[in-house]
Amino acid sequence: MNRPSGWRCRLSMTVLLGLLAAAGAGCSPTPPRYDSRFLAFGTLMDLTIVGIPADQAEQAARAIEADFLQMHKAWHAWDPGPLGRVNKMLESGETFSAPPSILPLIRLGKALSINSEALFNPAIGHLIDTWGFHRNDPRGSRPPPREVIERLLAQNPRMEDIAIDGLSLRGNNPAVKLDFGAFGKGYGIDLAVEHLKKMGVQNAIVNAGGDLRAIGHRETGDPWRIAIRHPDGDDVVGSLEISGDESVFTSGNYERNFTWEGRSYHHIIDPRTGFPAEGSASVTVIHDNSTTADAAATALFVAGPKDWHRIAGKLGVRYVLLIAENGDLHMNPAMQSRLKLADAANRKIILSPALD
Ligand code: ADP
Ligand code: MG
Repeated sequence: MNRPSGWRCRLSMTVLLGLLAAAGAGCSPTPPRYDSRFLAFGTLMDLTIVGIPADQAEQAARAIEADFLQMHKAWHAWDPGPLGRVNKMLESGETFSAPPSILPLIRLGKALSINSEALFNPAIGHLIDTWGFHRNDPRGSRPPPREVIERLLAQNPRMEDIAIDGLSLRGNNPAVKLDFGAFGKGYGIDLAVEHLKKMGVQNAIVNAGGDLRAIGHRETGDPWRIAIRHPDGDDVVGSLEISGDESVFTSGNYERNFTWEGRSYHHIIDPRTGFPAEGSASVTVIHDNSTTADAAATALFVAGPKDWHRIAGKLGVRYVLLIAENGDLHMNPAMQSRLKLADAANRKIILSPALD
């Protein structure tokens, strides 16, 4: 869907997937706005570009779409491709040269995993496979036998088991299998935004199903407005204004799950138990890059209402909203000052100490 917008009087426009309607801007001319949509990482991506002529925006959008296609191929953990080969080599214990498309993700993933006390752990690919969450549609699944989970936990795969020496890698634990599901999208969005900037784009949103990075401002000159979905349904918990260059990422138990014998099992696994993490329904993080925001949303989801604050501090994240399974809203004061809550009277807010 390509909809160049042109210079015209605009009353309102709704951007799908998490962006709020951009409210009326009167009848002054607005700079061009170009919206495009394509499939990447199994999600519909919405790319909005503001402030450059439609033909240039269209060209830029095509380049970004091609980037995402490339990344998707490179980082698929179970299709044949660079990541599949890296996983085989890591298992072998031999030293090998890292493909350039994978090395930065391993470096970043290792640092983020260490800083999150391994609550974000992209080395648990075997555990994710066992749960079946790599399938696009996990419905019809059932939990794996407890012995299988226990065996995988005992092997203790960690990012620290990957030795990095310049461009060479070596796996020190055959149980390590990389799965970039929790931060590949974020890294991809960071690359896309860098590419957009290089192409002269100063105002844009790259939105992957509600996880996004926004630069500059809206066509009206106002900040971008982002809706935060309530994990219980299609309701909106509140909204955030974003301008300059910021990423907003949410991990939720509603994204991928299946029900077995009346119990729901979701796709964010606590690497300490091998089971879906308990205590959180969703976590939203604002950060200046999408890679950290994505990994942090997953890590803080696993950390839950008791431990998210400590892990956020270690990851250097300064804005967090955690919606607990019981509906309580946990957040830090900086997030509270930015979040415009909907239905505030009916929400229980638990304010944490400041995060610096
Ligand atoms: P989404 O992709 O829906 O935005 P996340 O960013 O939280 O959600 O990523 C969840 C995905 O990350 C899972 O589908 C799985 O592939 C992987 N994963 C699950 N638990 C963890 C974890 N504790 N650490 C790292 N990766 C995880
Ligand atoms: Mg994530």
